[in-house]
Amino acid sequence: MPLSVSSSKPKVGVRNTRQRTAVVDLLSELDNFASAKEIHRELEERDARVGLTTVYRTLQSLAEIDAVDVLHMASGESLYRACHTDDHHHHLVCTECGRTEEIDGGPVEKWAKDVAKSHGFRLTGHDAEIFGVCQDCAAHQARAEAQAKNRGAAAK
Ligand SMILES: [Zn+2]
Ligand SMILES: [Zn+2]
Ligand SMILES: [Zn+2]
Repeated sequence: MPLSVSSSKPKVGVRNTRQRTAVVDLLSELDNFASAKEIHRELEERDARVGLTTVYRTLQSLAEIDAVDVLHMASGESLYRACHTDDHHHHLVCTECGRTEEIDGGPVEKWAKDVAKSHGFRLTGHDAEIFGVCQDCAAHQARAEAQAKNRGAAAK
């Protein structure tokens, strides 16, 4: 098998253990950001015996080589996703269902450069994600609210 060494991204397979492969395979199938715990649970359901600690470590090492994208949540939890594009991008994430759109940074890119420069910093990276509720979830919430209101009115 020919080895490609010209890839711009480091390949995942340096220490390609069975567990690591299981995590990588699962990530490539998931569309949404998932926590280490969710990934671990999903692997268990598939009978891939990978310990939670290994899942954490694998995800961290994948993030270090930029093989996965990471979202740092306010709760302190990190969520992981294998994105479709290798190009620099940002995320628009539904906080209800986790649906994720890959988006362009737009004015953020220039802003980050300008801010770093004006403070005499050499820019090494930036992080900006957008969170919201997607159309489907918003419609679902509206229905649930209407039902709750109806129930409340009926109970009184
Ligand atoms: Zn991404
Ligand atoms: Zn949603
Ligand atoms: Zn950006």
